[in-house]
Amino acid sequence: MSEFDEMFKTSPKPGNAAKYVCHKALQKDIDVLKTKVPFPEPSDEEKVGLFLRKLNELRRSRRSVQLFLDICVRCGACVKQCHYYLGTEDPKNAPVGRAEILRKIYRRYFTIGGKLFGKLAGAEDLTPEYLEKELYTYFYQCTECRRCSVFCPYGIDTAEITMAAREALEEAGLATKYITEVIAKVHTIGNNLGIPKPALENTLEFVKDDIKDMYGVDVEIPLDKEKADILFVAPSADFFTNVDTLIGYILVLNKLGLDWTFSSYASEIANFGLFFSYREMEAIAARIIRVARQIGAKWVIAGECGHAWRAARQFWEQLNGPLPFKFMNVGEFTASMIRKGRLKFDPSKNADVKATLHDPCNYARAGNLVDEYRFILKHVLPEGNFIDMREDAIKVKTFCCGGGGGLLTDEIMELRMLGGKPKAMAVKEVVEKHGVNYLAAPCAIDKAQLPLVMKHWNVPVQVGGVHDLVAKALKWE
Ligand code: SF4
Ligand code: SF4
Repeated sequence: MSEFDEMFKTSPKPGNAAKYVCHKALQKDIDVLKTKVPFPEPSDEEKVGLFLRKLNELRRSRRSVQLFLDICVRCGACVKQCHYYLGTEDPKNAPVGRAEILRKIYRRYFTIGGKLFGKLAGAEDLTPEYLEKELYTYFYQCTECRRCSVFCPYGIDTAEITMAAREALEEAGLATKYITEVIAKVHTIGNNLGIPKPALENTLEFVKDDIKDMYGVDVEIPLDKEKADILFVAPSADFFTNVDTLIGYILVLNKLGLDWTFSSYASEIANFGLFFSYREMEAIAARIIRVARQIGAKWVIAGECGHAWRAARQFWEQLNGPLPFKFMNVGEFTASMIRKGRLKFDPSKNADVKATLHDPCNYARAGNLVDEYRFILKHVLPEGNFIDMREDAIKVKTFCCGGGGGLLTDEIMELRMLGGKPKAMAVKEVVEKHGVNYLAAPCAIDKAQLPLVMKHWNVPVQVGGVHDLVAKALKWE
């Protein structure tokens, strides 16, 4: 039996993951949020009331939430599909177990059976302790990856339940430090990393020189153009840590000779509002949409970032629309330019690379952005140098990296490593069987999480973007 298959031999260990608790939000960050977490902290009684009021509002306004809370038959088909359950064996980390934490409260306050028969009907009174120890702890152990929904016969999407639980928690004054800190930086500076405009300008100057040194090409890297057909918005991590991916975007855009620009005001495509509240998601997206309108962009192209793609694809039009431009991910864009014959490659430049692809959860399950990145890799790598992982770890069944959903924070590092194990074991198989040495991960969160995961589980691969390889193989003549 392979190490991957071994992981599924689990035995429930109640309370095993109770110690992994995200740090609470700081007041300085809450102060700049569009959604205000109440301060001073509400009394215990008030917290319970605020949570229930919001839950009531959400179950009424989002039919899917109420439906998912009603229709689970507890068949258990989802249990071993969650990376955090596999990693911790805590039944409250099984999707059905996690949802049950909220379902008990829903039953108690919003169903006749729960109101009349309480615990006999599977209902539970909401107490301040339950808010902290059950709801806050376990709904911040879900990466909203949605793998469970693929295996549920009813299509129950636990990520939707998590999103509702987090919104209601936030109303009661419970939010995480990491998520609120990141969102506050976007509102005040423009991006998750808090890179101000002068630093961004310096970085782009360095990148321009690097491109000249590495590829012998003079490129334009426009920032804050007054008018442009394309607004390109990357995850800010690409400006600092994933510079090879950034170089890939820049080379492609220069090669095509398009009218494009980066923006210092809208310098972040990631949208942590998806992990927190619709209001924040709308406010973060509004920065990009404002700039796109101002410059008359016909297209907004997003860099390699999974959840940003989902936030834009599924929520921009609904929350911020109607939009006067079209949106696409850079993977869709580059693949379409290859199909049109406008980009040519010399795959021998990547002869030392044998790659596999990690499908980011949101590309795979919030749409179907899985073929484009494979198509690109097959064009930029020598024939036979792209190897897919096992079928139950890719595409719609891809396992999460273990750091999505706003959980890429150090205080739960042990949990992150446990959650990353299924992906690590799937990668290990292709490393050992086929000599894979590169894990292409077209998402900024993956690029931060997977190198740690691979190191932790002793899987010797380099983790990088897809456009890193595009840059190396792109022909200029
Ligand atoms: S698979 Fe669906 S119906 Fe079955 S326990 Fe899980 S959430 Fe409930
Ligand atoms: S959405 Fe992902 S992390 Fe959350 S319960 Fe489902 S499988 Fe687990």
